[in-house]
Amino acid sequence: MDVRFATDRNLGTLAKWLRILGYDTLYERGNADPDFLRRAASEGRIVLTRKRDRTSLSSGGRLVVVKADHVRLQLAEVLEALRLEPDPVKKMTRCLRCNVMLEEIPKERAEGRVPVYVYAACIRFKGCPACGRIYWPGTHRRHIEESLRARIPR
Ligand SMILES: [Zn+2]
Repeated sequence: MDVRFATDRNLGTLAKWLRILGYDTLYERGNADPDFLRRAASEGRIVLTRKRDRTSLSSGGRLVVVKADHVRLQLAEVLEALRLEPDPVKKMTRCLRCNVMLEEIPKERAEGRVPVYVYAACIRFKGCPACGRIYWPGTHRRHIEESLRARIPR
């Protein structure tokens, strides 16, 4: 079975990165409370949290306490702790907002919903069946660059 994650509210950027890599990642806007831990365990998700108090985190499920502050290091930490090698085929197949798998859509459906230059330049588009957002080669890359810029300490 594929590895699936659940992150608590302190790891929103990391959740986005895991989705970029293709991992099914539930992002919880709250803390890693007992409800959240139970739900994650019942769905077979590995919990990622920054909470260090392990006694309050006992859920029976797998858990990684993330120590790094920068998202790139956090990602490395998680992949290393779980000995994971992201599958290149799965990269950029998931909606960054909804976590659902994107579907190929005919080019016409993207018309008027993406910038004109993108429509002219791209052949293949994907859409999110949940939020309707349209993705094209480059969308994910832009997000990666933006999130890196936002997080790089000066
Ligand atoms: Zn979506």
